[in-house]
Amino acid sequence: MSEEPVTIQGPVCPTPVQQRDRIVMGHGSGGKLSHDLIARKFVPAFASAALRAGDDAGVVQANTCTRLAISTDSHVVWPLFFPGGDIGKLAVCGTVNDVAMMGAVVKYLTAGFILEEGCEFDVLERVIDSMQAAAAEAAVEIVAGDTKVVQKGKADGLYINTTGVGVIPTGIEIGGALAQPGDVVILSGPIGDHGIAVLSARGELDFEAEVQSDIAPLNHLIAAMLDASESVHVLRDPTRGGVATTLNEIAKQSNVGITLWEKSIPVRPAVRAACEMLGFDPMYVANEGKLIAIVGREEADRVLDIMRKQRYGAEAVIVGEVQAESPGRVLLKTAIGSHRLVDVLLGEMLPRIC
Ligand code: MG
Repeated sequence: MSEEPVTIQGPVCPTPVQQRDRIVMGHGSGGKLSHDLIARKFVPAFASAALRAGDDAGVVQANTCTRLAISTDSHVVWPLFFPGGDIGKLAVCGTVNDVAMMGAVVKYLTAGFILEEGCEFDVLERVIDSMQAAAAEAAVEIVAGDTKVVQKGKADGLYINTTGVGVIPTGIEIGGALAQPGDVVILSGPIGDHGIAVLSARGELDFEAEVQSDIAPLNHLIAAMLDASESVHVLRDPTRGGVATTLNEIAKQSNVGITLWEKSIPVRPAVRAACEMLGFDPMYVANEGKLIAIVGREEADRVLDIMRKQRYGAEAVIVGEVQAESPGRVLLKTAIGSHRLVDVLLGEMLPRIC
């Protein structure tokens, strides 16, 4: 690469972190504080190979011929309902997607509810209906559950934990450590919709953003991609921390550099306008129905064609490439041709977005 990166991406919206002996909101951001918490507290304590791999789901060998992908996710989004979705749809799709990102065929979910005393049945029923609709679309079954109730004021309506299990077909090898120099980075569509849709539901925008969350189950899209090509090396959904943080994770896991072309990254005009108003970079805003695929260059166009024929991949584009230089780093080639370093999300930008 001829040019040196000229600008370091600073903290997007830092949380002051003076209190090092206790949890701060940034520990739930999906960014640097979350990663540090996981790396320093949870991984050393639990010490399994699956956790250490650091992927969207843990992969375990169930017997000599069956590998399972298992993921769990707690959902605390506020408000419970927002344009394009609600906490129930999020709880199903978020876990389905994390399991599917390992190339697994997602089979079963569990659902654990923490309900606040006073939560209306009408609210709960809407959430349950939404979960069942999302599960039906994803073709997964909810096979076990749990219900707890806490006193009024001890929760915020309701929280949902879901765990998902999928079977990884023989021959499928997908993981964050498998990006190779020469690979191409594909993004399945415009970024930042989910974060901005939730903010608009909170009344934090001065204008009608008209942005719908992109929440969607991506398992059928992934199945079509894996049917078409054996050169899909990495799949990951850029949820909390956004595309910038997710690509940094992959660059570090694979020990490669990733270059993005700023002009090629799709952002809807309403999302861009909202981000400008709020001082956000859409690269750090959460998505719930998008994926990043890192694919062998020779098959990238074929994978892209297949994606574009699928409902949730219709706006897929190639946004960058993988190289051996600058291992562990993500560079953005800007519209004017300079390079800037894209760091992980620091602090907390949008609390309780999922
Ligand atoms: Mg994920």
